[in-house]
Amino acid sequence: MPETSDNTPRSVLITGANRGIGRAIAERFVAAGDKVATIYRSGDLPAGVLGVTGDMRDTASVDAAFTEIEAAHGPVEVLVANAGITRDQLLMRMSDEEFDDVLDVNLKGAFRCARRASKGMIRLRRGRIVLISSVVGLYGSPGQVNYSASKAALVGVARSITRELGGRGITANVVAPGFIDTDMTRALPEATQKAYVDSIPAGRFAQPDEVAAAVEFLASPGAAYISGAVIPVDGGLGMGH
Ligand code: NAP
Repeated sequence: MPETSDNTPRSVLITGANRGIGRAIAERFVAAGDKVATIYRSGDLPAGVLGVTGDMRDTASVDAAFTEIEAAHGPVEVLVANAGITRDQLLMRMSDEEFDDVLDVNLKGAFRCARRASKGMIRLRRGRIVLISSVVGLYGSPGQVNYSASKAALVGVARSITRELGGRGITANVVAPGFIDTDMTRALPEATQKAYVDSIPAGRFAQPDEVAAAVEFLASPGAAYISGAVIPVDGGLGMGH
């Protein structure tokens, strides 16, 4: 069933909308007139965003936040699983804890959100799930075995959701940003940042809103037949991966 292309505001949930890419995504959906909510841990939110605190590592916390958001905005029609962390370490020194922490937030957090969102979407017979991965998922990166594994796994999640729920008007896609100008990349040493810029065909990092534009498209009526895709927003960095 194609989605309605009228201007009815949708219930949109973006995790981690207090800063970085999540914030830019939230601002775009607010500007489009949607009902925008976030599950977040700290900080302030863009105007017009309903914030409910929650932790991606805790199923009960995610489920409770969803329930509160759905009571206010109705069933979530667009889920953007954006919250993510890094705990970089060379393989031989990486602890179980460093590996598990990253998987718990980036992969299991996205799973927890998608699982909870699917209930309402199945009832509605429509929904858009967008998982924020990274170029590093399929390209690899030294010191990021944990992060890369978590981001590559999101492709399997989106494609399995597509096979499971594709017949119910639900799409699931992955957006794979390259280097985006946020706290996550500002934390890198300057020499590392320069080396990355030199390797990006576009010759620069992206602004968070350039990722938000791709997410907005995947949630739009025009993207109803796109599912299980990995959309790079990386200035050409990951071509072919
Ligand atoms: P960021 O500025 O570091 O923001 C990360 C967000 O995730 C924050 O809102 C943070 O909340 C939230 N978060 C972390 N752990 C959480 C938890 N346990 N429960 C709830 N929220 C949690 O990151 P960003 O650069 O905007 O990245 C957003 C997404 O894009 C991430 O999935 C990241 O892996 C991905 N990505 C980023 C880049 C890049 O170059 N920046 C490239 C590729 C992919 P707090 O503010 O409370 O910590």
